[in-house]
Amino acid sequence: MCHGWMHVRCLALNASYEPLTMVPVRRALRLVIDHKAEIVEADGLRTVCSASLVVPRPAVIRLVRFVHVPRRFRRQVTNTFLFARDEYRCQFCGRRTIDLKSRECLTRDHLVPISRGGTNQWTNVVTACSSCNTRKGNRLPTECGMQPLRVPLEPHFVHLTWAVRRLTPVQGKYIRLFYGEDTLRTLQGL
Ligand SMILES: [Zn+2]
Repeated sequence: MCHGWMHVRCLALNASYEPLTMVPVRRALRLVIDHKAEIVEADGLRTVCSASLVVPRPAVIRLVRFVHVPRRFRRQVTNTFLFARDEYRCQFCGRRTIDLKSRECLTRDHLVPISRGGTNQWTNVVTACSSCNTRKGNRLPTECGMQPLRVPLEPHFVHLTWAVRRLTPVQGKYIRLFYGEDTLRTLQGL
């Protein structure tokens, strides 16, 4: 049967079994067909079809060759991940998404503004509601007395993935294999 799998994601492991990222199943299949990855775990009950073959739906794939992934690519700061890191809470006034007024929204605030040499690194960006972002404007935290609730740190990729999109138990097994039981338990507690 060829339906209902387009939105499903596959956990991609490096050749070293390090969990790298979640990829759409279509992309995972392309890697397998091109012999760039092997299927480590499949959802045996489901199959996906391309023009000429039927294969089990991959749940976990492993790259055939080790790929060095620079940290800056591995952990790009998207707003989805940024908001998840900060638990969807404005780091200045502490309000969550549900506390915002209809005309407000969560935004990305640069502690050191871009115009003053700030970067998009994890340690310089925080989640801020649009009102706090406007209020802070072009100032440094020390200039306006607005310090974030938590010191912004670079989160672990796996924590982010878990926060944004839950892994299946089969996929979780590989998190445990690589990072250990404690990490998996921490993730499950989020
Ligand atoms: Zn705020």
